[in-house]
Amino acid sequence: MTELPARRLLLVHAHPDDESINNGATMARYRAEGARVTLVTCTLGERGEVIPPELRHLTGPALGAYRLRELTAAMAALGVDDFRQLGGAGRYSDSGMMGLPDNDDPDCFWQADLDEAAAHLVEVILEVRPQVVVTYDPDGGYGHPDHIQAHRVTTRAVELAAAAGWEVPKVYWNRAPRTVVEAAFARLERELPELPFDAAARVDDLPGVVGDELVTTEIDGTAHARDKAAAMGAHATQLKLTGAYFALSNALAQPLFTTEYYQLVRGERAPGGRESDLFAGLATEGTR
Ligand SMILES: [Zn+2]
Repeated sequence: MTELPARRLLLVHAHPDDESINNGATMARYRAEGARVTLVTCTLGERGEVIPPELRHLTGPALGAYRLRELTAAMAALGVDDFRQLGGAGRYSDSGMMGLPDNDDPDCFWQADLDEAAAHLVEVILEVRPQVVVTYDPDGGYGHPDHIQAHRVTTRAVELAAAAGWEVPKVYWNRAPRTVVEAAFARLERELPELPFDAAARVDDLPGVVGDELVTTEIDGTAHARDKAAAMGAHATQLKLTGAYFALSNALAQPLFTTEYYQLVRGERAPGGRESDLFAGLATEGTR
């Protein structure tokens, strides 16, 4: 058995691009510090919209394959070499936005059998033995079926892995503290006339925005801001990046955060104020 690095972080996301937007700076920071960072992406974003007009002919599996290449480039920018697709590439397809007929496709992630999907993730957990798992809140941050399902599958997998021999010490949800988001949008409103975007998104368009008191942990990724921007830029079919701002296919500008925020929902919070390290309070000496 190969020896595992002392610190191991597992992130579970719904589509390519979610990881770079939510956790790009965190992933780059922990890779730079020598931790193992494993990303599991549940679908290939086959039903998302495509921004560049010259690529709009891509749909379904062809779009999924293209987005897997974008994800590969993004992971290179972050230094992450362990990234996988739940059950293998193409096992679960994008479910589309909530309420669309796409949600009924038997191959889509929303229709996945929970225990079967979780079993794929349990395999990864038992192999990697992460001390920290990161995913979305029960609403998936903003109600997208694949994000909700990623939350459910991760939660179930953590339970099943505990019964099978690896108790994940800490689980976090992606969050954004309301005061930080409001301040960033206020700055965006002031700068908007100078920016190549016609309009801005609103605070409530962002996933995971909550009262500051729910945020337990903030990871300062300022030193890795460039890596995060490069990773986001690799997802060119899904977003357009300009300096400290970006827009998704709705073309509405939103702030790019290089400090990333989390809510601890399983495990012991390190004493003091907000944690500044996802591994805070854990004994992370090497394991065999
Ligand atoms: Zn997504």
